[in-house]
Amino acid sequence: MSNPDQHFSIEVEGTEKRCPVGETIGNRNMAEGKIPVLSCEGACIRGEIARLAANMVAKEEGYARGCHGELFSVPDSAMAQWIKKAEKVVLIDGCFLRCHGRILENLVGKEKLAQFDALRVYRKYTDVFDIDDVPEVERKEVARQIADSVLAALEEKA
Ligand code: SF4
Repeated sequence: MSNPDQHFSIEVEGTEKRCPVGETIGNRNMAEGKIPVLSCEGACIRGEIARLAANMVAKEEGYARGCHGELFSVPDSAMAQWIKKAEKVVLIDGCFLRCHGRILENLVGKEKLAQFDALRVYRKYTDVFDIDDVPEVERKEVARQIADSVLAALEEKA
């Protein structure tokens, strides 16, 4: 799958189940018009920094953390509906692979997606995979740097 023009799909088994708190939060955020903030949620240090940064951005007024799991695999859930109907969606990917950006552009629309590549900003740990190989204090410092750069860019575009 090396051709960027060659799209592919993943088949997902349906479910009638719902996450109770996901429904509550999704409905609340939809009613309050909150802007969803997502990260790629990758397992490595790059994904972790993106995840921490997304958590920080989501604490700011007008934003709230979105769940990618429900967005992708429970399409009728309140969480997924909130994210899909939001006027703007903020996404912090961990690196240049843009694992979520490439999906979300098709799922919520490229025009309303504010996308960020965290690694492009801090440019470290490229030979590290394990989250614990970077001390927690340092992880949080880098995540704060990313969150601040995302918030500054969002403010500039507002
Ligand atoms: S964007 Fe990078 S860090 Fe995030 S899941 Fe993909 S490969 Fe991992």
